[in-house]
Amino acid sequence: MAVERTLSIIKPDATRRSLTGQINARFEAAGLRIVAQRRLRLMRPQAERFYRVHAERSFFGELCESMCAGPVVVQVLEGENAIKRNRELMGATNPANAAPGTIRKDFGESIEANSVHGSDSSENAREEIGYFFAEIDIVG
Ligand code: ADP
Ligand code: MG
Repeated sequence: MAVERTLSIIKPDATRRSLTGQINARFEAAGLRIVAQRRLRLMRPQAERFYRVHAERSFFGELCESMCAGPVVVQVLEGENAIKRNRELMGATNPANAAPGTIRKDFGESIEANSVHGSDSSENAREEIGYFFAEIDIVG
């Protein structure tokens, strides 16, 4: 197994409900270390850039709007198989379909307000981490 890094975002629906600590506790309990973290508010062009792979999807406008609706916490998680492990902790995109005990099942409000983002491949992880963090910000 390889130690990996992945980008996680605690979305506005979750920061609004003060769930950052509870979500972070799940990462740490699962062996994912939070090696960089910043709270910020995305502007619309930044959200559009981050989610540009979804630009043609019908939900793109609502997705970008919801990501700008309040503060987000962007973070780098590090650990064995961090990308896949984080996706397992997150659960399915639609909270209604997510397995019991996952973050989205327990905290997600809807498919739009599903509390967390996580990179889905090593290539995307590298790119997404680089969008928010410089190497000097990441302290392993
Ligand atoms: P994931 O976040 O699980 O990787 P995607 O990358 O497919 O899912 O989609 C990005 C985000 O867009 C999702 O987390 C969700 O908030 C939103 N989304 C995805 N599919 C839909 C949909 N059919 N309707 C509304 N929002 C959606
Ligand atoms: Mg995705």
